[in-house]
Amino acid sequence: MDVLMRHCKTHKLPTILSRTFLKALKRSHINCATHTSPPVSPPSKPTIPTPRVSRLFQPSNLREGQEGGELTCRSQRLMLQTGLIHPSNPGCFYYLPVALRSMEKLVRLIDEEMHAIGGQKVDMPALCSAKLWKTSGRWELMGKEMFRLQDRHNAEYCLGPTHEEAITELFASQSTVSYKKLPLLLYQVTRKFRDEQKPKFGLLRGREFYMKDMYSFDISEVAALDTYQSVCRAYGRLFDRLGLNWVQVQADTGNIGGTLSHEFQLPADIGEDRLLVCQNCGFSANVETMEPGQTHCSQCQTGVLSETRGIEVGHTFYLGTKYSQVFKALFVNASNEPSVAEMGCFGLGVTRILAASIEVLSSVDAICWPGLIAPFQVCVLPPKKGSKAQEATRISEDLAQSLGNSLANLKGEVVLDDRTQMTIGKRLKDAKILGYPYVVVVGQKALEDLPIFEVLRQRSGETMFLSKEGLVDLLSRVETI
Ligand code: ATP
Ligand code: MG
Repeated sequence: MDVLMRHCKTHKLPTILSRTFLKALKRSHINCATHTSPPVSPPSKPTIPTPRVSRLFQPSNLREGQEGGELTCRSQRLMLQTGLIHPSNPGCFYYLPVALRSMEKLVRLIDEEMHAIGGQKVDMPALCSAKLWKTSGRWELMGKEMFRLQDRHNAEYCLGPTHEEAITELFASQSTVSYKKLPLLLYQVTRKFRDEQKPKFGLLRGREFYMKDMYSFDISEVAALDTYQSVCRAYGRLFDRLGLNWVQVQADTGNIGGTLSHEFQLPADIGEDRLLVCQNCGFSANVETMEPGQTHCSQCQTGVLSETRGIEVGHTFYLGTKYSQVFKALFVNASNEPSVAEMGCFGLGVTRILAASIEVLSSVDAICWPGLIAPFQVCVLPPKKGSKAQEATRISEDLAQSLGNSLANLKGEVVLDDRTQMTIGKRLKDAKILGYPYVVVVGQKALEDLPIFEVLRQRSGETMFLSKEGLVDLLSRVETI
């Protein structure tokens, strides 16, 4: 009230107005105090209408030379063509609704794997103080790759390219972490900023991209290496669940540092990394870690090394005490004494995984998604307007609605391609390019006494004719996240 009166005075409101206002306020106060609300049931959740292709914001962006460069790879071309992304500045993209559905699924999958090994999710500021980076000595080391800026007080900052400094400082600020709390695994999924010399290949090498970065704190080297192995196994499981062919290779520790490091690579011709794989024992390494010209395996001594190219989708580091020493990240050990924590850090390129899976799984003219992260699992195609089967339009709408609402695994996963001014053939072609795992064509046969639906399984290219029960049975077994 006091505040209100002051407000009236300072703004020189006529006193009469403020009195009336106060009276009204008082009345409403009394009402509130005496009002007893009847028991109410909790507000119901909104019903989500079936998504319709005609309404999706999915502008096709395929124009040569956009983004100031050539369209250089399959995933970039397909993602622009199908309205998944829109270019902004070099190396920066708008992620459009359909792509975001996939990305959110990928993040849920990552969350599942990180939680399974005890990870806890945090979210750190993207704006990082130069002080931290000067403490670790990386302010200079990062050179031009770091986006630097100053605030109004001339304090220096950078837009976080990675967060070893920040997380170690966070840990160090808790002076009495007991050894009983370790291992502690903290991770985030956030935007990272790197002024890449040559941003290219769409989401594969951006200047602003999403990364999952996890940091571990352990009581000893043995424990830290155990954590390291556990994260590597989780990465392997993640790529297996995505149905991707991957290799774990010995890697360089770069400017992040540490003594042990691996990259998770997807073999692909456009990959920027050169990998050597032993044909005998399976040992794999990034060329950067090998002697120049080495042709034989250093592990089994006999095998011949063959070279492939790969897209780096994950990177793990055992850091030891490189950061924890500098930032005094201590825990209280079993003898009640302060001890320096052993650390690891573990990156996954979220937007890179999204594009890289399209890159390695798709054909030249059609996207193939890892099933779990397809933006929609099912697309229902109603008949063309004015065709003999037009009466089946209602059936298609009901079908899409019932599949997308009644099957637990398909909640919100069924899209209706209601662009009925287009022929089935044209819409089927679009559905193929976008790569919905299942396409259901509702035609003449859906009008029969026992309605039959034509179902296309995109990955195998097989076509099935199924009753409603058959269709429900098939689709209820689709694995989703
Ligand atoms: P690269 O060698 O490809 O430049 P990096 O080794 O510098 O990558 P890390 O610091 O290991 O990258 O980052 C962890 C993960 O983040 C990488 O394995 C990769 O999947 C992803 N990543 C790194 N840089 C980019 C980028 N510019 N655009 C998209 N994803 C990236
Ligand atoms: Mg790396």
